[in-house]
Amino acid sequence: MEIINRRQRMSSVARKIRREQDKSIGLVPTMGALHDGHLSLVKEARQMCDIVVVSVFVNPAQFGPKEDYEHYPRDLTRDTALLTDYNVDYIFAPPSEEMYPRGYATYVNVEGLSDQLEGISRPGHFRGVATVVTVLLNTIRPDFAFFGQKDFQQALVIKRLVRDLALDTEIVVLPTIREDSGLAMSSRNTYLSSEEREAATVIHRALLKAREAYKAGERSAGKLVEAARKTVESEPRARLEYVNVSNSENLEKLDKLDDLPILITIAVFIGKTRLIDNIVLNSSGKKKDSAKAGS
Ligand code: AMP
Repeated sequence: MEIINRRQRMSSVARKIRREQDKSIGLVPTMGALHDGHLSLVKEARQMCDIVVVSVFVNPAQFGPKEDYEHYPRDLTRDTALLTDYNVDYIFAPPSEEMYPRGYATYVNVEGLSDQLEGISRPGHFRGVATVVTVLLNTIRPDFAFFGQKDFQQALVIKRLVRDLALDTEIVVLPTIREDSGLAMSSRNTYLSSEEREAATVIHRALLKAREAYKAGERSAGKLVEAARKTVESEPRARLEYVNVSNSENLEKLDKLDDLPILITIAVFIGKTRLIDNIVLNSSGKKKDSAKAGS
């Protein structure tokens, strides 16, 4: 395994793999502080592709001015050890000035999809995500890039950008990996005290309550939201930021739940830590979901 820090080196290595060796490349973009959620993407990439690249880059452009960019957990030594075990070929870990050199001026904005849900709470977040992913995809030109359903809206934004910009990468979206407690794995869980970690299980329970109501025949989105809200309110350490029921394809808010599949997204503060989660109701039952430009 090789750790690459320079964009130019990454792009020439990838070009060689494609042209001279005719091998497929899979990219798993991450911000590091790896956990089993990330590793599930790496495993799938390892199965599907000849060469696996994992990028580790805490992207300043996707953090708001009052967010946790400075404090975000960083541990490349530990990440490298984990990725060695998973037989990864390259880690691309550029410093910030390598991705955003002096004079950097071009940003990618996926209109509409970026302005809802997380986009309302975190203005500019998806502009930062779309920009860095575009640079990564252009640098490496992978055949496949792997993302988690944990960040459902992010995956949707990226699928759209790949389609709109006619990038030649297939986007693969994989299920959310959870702790036994139901808590979705997240690098930000390291911020939680043990009491808070216990309290944070309320997030998934709230989603399950909404799903239960739906399964029992409830078709008013407001009632599902209420069920989730009440559950979160039962936990004193939790503060609900939003819970939303939307069309899982365009993220438009739903009132009556006739059209499927339905996405329920939630953002909750546990103490000072902001966590997000989601579930999809009545999906086709497919485990893996992929999309390619033009399809
Ligand atoms: P991050 O390092 O948080 O930017 O995440 C990198 C990738 O891992 C993104 O595609 C995330 O959606 C995905 N991911 C993060 N947490 C999980 C999880 N619990 N299960 C599955 N994928 C995840």
